[in-house]
Amino acid sequence: MSDRKGLSRRDFLKTAGVAGTGSLLAAAGPFMPNDSFAAENNPQNDRVPTRPFGKTGVNVSILGLGGMFDIPSNQLVLRQALKWGVTYWDTADCYEGGNSEIGIGDFFKRYPEQRKEIFLVTKSDARDPAGMTRLLDRSLDRMKTDYIDLYLIHGMKAIDEVNAATRAWMEKAKSSGKIKFFGFSTHSNMEELMLAAAKLGWIDGIMMTYNYRVMAKSRMQSAVTACTEAGIGLTAMKTQGSGWFSGLAESGGEMTDRFIKLGFSDKQANLKAVWENPNIACVCSQMPNMSILTSNIAAALNQTRLSAADLLTMQRYAHATSSTYCAGCTRLCEPTVAGQAPIGDIMRYLMYHNSYGERDRARSLFAGLPAVTRDCLLGHDYSEAEKVCPQGLKIGQLMREATRLLG
Ligand code: SF4
Repeated sequence: MSDRKGLSRRDFLKTAGVAGTGSLLAAAGPFMPNDSFAAENNPQNDRVPTRPFGKTGVNVSILGLGGMFDIPSNQLVLRQALKWGVTYWDTADCYEGGNSEIGIGDFFKRYPEQRKEIFLVTKSDARDPAGMTRLLDRSLDRMKTDYIDLYLIHGMKAIDEVNAATRAWMEKAKSSGKIKFFGFSTHSNMEELMLAAAKLGWIDGIMMTYNYRVMAKSRMQSAVTACTEAGIGLTAMKTQGSGWFSGLAESGGEMTDRFIKLGFSDKQANLKAVWENPNIACVCSQMPNMSILTSNIAAALNQTRLSAADLLTMQRYAHATSSTYCAGCTRLCEPTVAGQAPIGDIMRYLMYHNSYGERDRARSLFAGLPAVTRDCLLGHDYSEAEKVCPQGLKIGQLMREATRLLG
């Protein structure tokens, strides 16, 4: 099988995976913009596959475009993603101070006929019905669309953040045609939220932290099973399993060598590990540039399966580096400081700073914490938190590092 311009698909996958994508883009040249979408769409078998999204009746691309980047200045990424079948687009009211949604609106303004191709996901930072209505209307206006496919409550930590009033709001929003499906995103206490949501009966979709570090935990496996049986569509995010410290995660030694021999990078292997679970409909990945987009698409098109030995290698690596990764189980550590320090959030900001290299975003998020929270952060005794942390994180030391780097 070959793709356009004579580059064989196998070569494409290997080049994008191992040698990096810069040279590929320059040499093969199939990714340049053109004003005609219809003429450029790839044959079906070179498009990212799809999977059913829970019981919604909708099939979504297994690779989703995470929108936490400067979309107004990167319209080419959206265009190329669509051409390769990445039709699940994710954003939030707060991403890039609203510029993420505005950038998607720029795209739909220029290519309105493409709206129906996209499974559009955005999120509300409000919890109260009036606030959700205000933010939903603003999202619709920014994105130049009449409806959102999947509307999520953003970053839930406990199931009591949704209630009967939320359900009534959701039913009204659906009947008005402004949203098609409803759910929440979470990177804290994911398993507990998923298990509780499976019992509610009115959650259509959940976007949660899910990667090779958490997927083997029995409670996460139970949570995925419960959601699947309840017909909830699952989207995995934070799929690279990056932690507050990037050094080890970027040099997986045995793991990296193993996957290079198979023809893809450890980053691509991390995606493939998630796709090994057929109950995960979509991997939502931040793809702010063509290099990452191309590499991820190569992984999505690659039909090589990870073996049990490959997955075991990843589990061994996860175990050996557990103290570099915060698993989001804030129900364990945050009560030990009376909920006065958002430990899980701060670990995530450190991840953005140290592993993602997104220093401005990390500092901006840290600055968004209440002043009293920041001012008191170093005054807490974290010894109990460290005792209950299953990952063995040196929480006190990391709070000091966060204050130094982000404050
Ligand atoms: S610091 Fe430890 S206990 Fe707290 S959320 Fe992270 S992994 Fe869980």
